[in-house]
Amino acid sequence: MATLETDIHRVPLITPSRTTRLMMDFAFRVAQEARDRVKVGAVIADARGNILSYGYNGTPSGYSNEMRDEEGKTKECVLHAEQNAIIKMSSNGVSCFVDETTMYSTIAPCVSCSSAIVQSGIKTVIFQDYYKSVEGLEVLEACGVKILRIKREER
Ligand SMILES: [Zn+2]
Repeated sequence: MATLETDIHRVPLITPSRTTRLMMDFAFRVAQEARDRVKVGAVIADARGNILSYGYNGTPSGYSNEMRDEEGKTKECVLHAEQNAIIKMSSNGVSCFVDETTMYSTIAPCVSCSSAIVQSGIKTVIFQDYYKSVEGLEVLEACGVKILRIKREER
């Protein structure tokens, strides 16, 4: 199991294009919609910069917006930003397999979201901040999804 420190050096830092900057700005704006102190946003776009979907962390539509239990832990029903973006895309009948798609995420995806990213056919993940675990990045890398990182100040 890789440590966070080795992965910080392993995930290439890129100088973002104007489109990448724009998509990350949008991901951070989307994150603000989360009704929790932890705010995560994800955007899925095709190679031409068309936004296919976006999502933020939250409970299923129609359910209570309260994301935490009495002990302050995140409820199991809470969907992550990346999952919500993928589900929204699927429910609209859009496929990632027809075009080279990129997910822009405010933080690196967890292992569960990374598995969903692989299965949905997303080819590249660009994130800004590391998640508490690097297991998700290991899944992405092992399954051939390109992972890139941008510096906080380069957004
Ligand atoms: Zn996740």
